[in-house]
Amino acid sequence: MLSSPSNTATSFAPAFRRLLRWLRYALLALLVILLLGYLLPERVMIPVQGAKRADWNPKSFWYEPWGPSGVHKGIDIFAKRAQPVLAATGGVVIYQGPFGAGGNVVAVLGPHWHVHYYAHLDAPTHVPRFVSRGEQIGAVGTSGNAQGKPPHLHYAILSAVPQPWRITHETQGWRKMYYLDPGDFIGRY
Ligand SMILES: [Zn+2]
Repeated sequence: MLSSPSNTATSFAPAFRRLLRWLRYALLALLVILLLGYLLPERVMIPVQGAKRADWNPKSFWYEPWGPSGVHKGIDIFAKRAQPVLAATGGVVIYQGPFGAGGNVVAVLGPHWHVHYYAHLDAPTHVPRFVSRGEQIGAVGTSGNAQGKPPHLHYAILSAVPQPWRITHETQGWRKMYYLDPGDFIGRY
């Protein structure tokens, strides 16, 4: 026998309600996880051993023109080759290896859903999955497009959660919802 439209509706409704309830729980869980990330204290240190604020130009963030990438989306901390690169915050190593113009890079997801990106490292690294603040994660070098330039660490902080209120009218200004100025975070505690 063919089911009447009303029958279909009554059998569909509980399944739909279950789906809605499940979606609500999933969303709540996601919000709690997001919130926990923001509750973790974020203390960012200079990620090169012995480096001082004078070792990078604060105006180098969003400097342009900057080769194929247009604007410079981080800061360059100059140091001697092989000077230890330290994790600016603790976190989860989400990538290590060659990464285009960055050369040998390490990316660490830290508190506040910020990804800390360390580039031009002297050699490929083999760091553990979890690193603590101040732990060595590499050495200053000239890999990637830093070849032939003075050794430096290219350090960038990206927000995995877009921050649209940071968008400006500068060149590639919309990308500022992801790229944060590391100088604003270092030593801000
Ligand atoms: Zn750079």
